Amino acid sequence: MSLHFAYRRYTVPFRIPVRTAHGLWTHREGVLVKLTDAKGRSGIGEAAPIPWFGTETADEIESACRSIGDSVQKHTALPVRLGCLTHAWKSALRALATEPTTSRHAYLPVVALLPAGRAALERIKGLAEAGFRTFKWKVGVGDPSDERALLDDLLAALPNGAKLRLDANGAWVRREAERWLAYCADRPIEFVEQPVSPDAPAVEDSLLGLAGDFPTRIALDESVATLAQLERWLAAGWPGVFVIKPSLIGDVDLAFEKLAKAKSPVVVSSAMETAIGAYAALRLALAFPGELLALGFGVYPLFVDNRLDGPAVAPFVRREDLERFDPEAVWNVLS
Ligand code: MG
Repeated sequence: MSLHFAYRRYTVPFRIPVRTAHGLWTHREGVLVKLTDAKGRSGIGEAAPIPWFGTETADEIESACRSIGDSVQKHTALPVRLGCLTHAWKSALRALATEPTTSRHAYLPVVALLPAGRAALERIKGLAEAGFRTFKWKVGVGDPSDERALLDDLLAALPNGAKLRLDANGAWVRREAERWLAYCADRPIEFVEQPVSPDAPAVEDSLLGLAGDFPTRIALDESVATLAQLERWLAAGWPGVFVIKPSLIGDVDLAFEKLAKAKSPVVVSSAMETAIGAYAALRLALAFPGELLALGFGVYPLFVDNRLDGPAVAPFVRREDLERFDPEAVWNVLS
């Protein structure tokens, strides 16, 4: 059966530029793909690459789309390197499928993001009252001993039974990561995310060494943006958590199958995509067959044009919220 194929390249400004290790990120670039069947039903998917995470670029996606033509087969072979486009294509096909994806969860908790430094303390009360029970604090920003002293104040301010995860975004050298993990050892920390940079020397030995030497779990985020990277860490027997951004990983079904088989705990996380990619990622998260920790999706509102935003920050994402989303509306905004 042949399908009609269309695509839209987009460049949209963030409300607030995102600080990254590669400078300020001001505009989200990507490509929407749309597949329409003979009955006029459409499925839309989003390719939202982040090239400095090792994905393809929006230019590469656009030129692949240009060469596809407007009449395609369901199983059109896409270049393996174009993981984000592969994900967009599969998302569009999944949306077209008459059989819905099985949901294993009716709802999933979302992590509340705390700002770096002392400002985090002032946010906890309001977020706890709103119903959040998992919190993430950005570390590796200020002086490490000040941050560690502040950690105890944060832990004391959390509601009973709450979880706190720390995200270093690769900011520490190994020696600093060791000091932190020693400090966390007798404190209730859910996990420490990306303690050292994926570009650090001998990073695999460092991370495996840290995971073996300290009791607090470690999560890989920047280290596992693509499927090839994930496969390398699974083969190395990574004992900790994996932060998975469905928009970047490529073949999400395959990634999830491997993660469930390895019994690895997973955080499904945003790649700062528009609502189309966000809802596709959340639907996949609801179907994940293994251990899921609170979602990394507390990022919206993200765009100057709020019609492009994924679900507003809330303590939970519910299945019925996902069913109400209309991807056609976002396609029209970007057309
Ligand atoms: Mg992270």
